[in-house]
Amino acid sequence: MKSAKQKRELITSDELLERLKGLKIKLDCGHCCTVGHQLANTLVVTSTGGGKIRTYCHECYN
Ligand SMILES: [Zn+2]
Repeated sequence: MKSAKQKRELITSDELLERLKGLKIKLDCGHCCTVGHQLANTLVVTSTGGGKIRTYCHECYN
């Protein structure tokens, strides 16, 4: 049986980190960020209307 409604997950920032850890992400600003890496760029994620997200490093977000 399929439900019309998708189950929504609620996760914490810590759980998000666990999911992203080790991934190299190409940011929308053109830089790259490896989550969990000691010297990695700061990852800034903005969620806007319409189900879109944009990603930046700290330098480009300012
Ligand atoms: Zn950048």
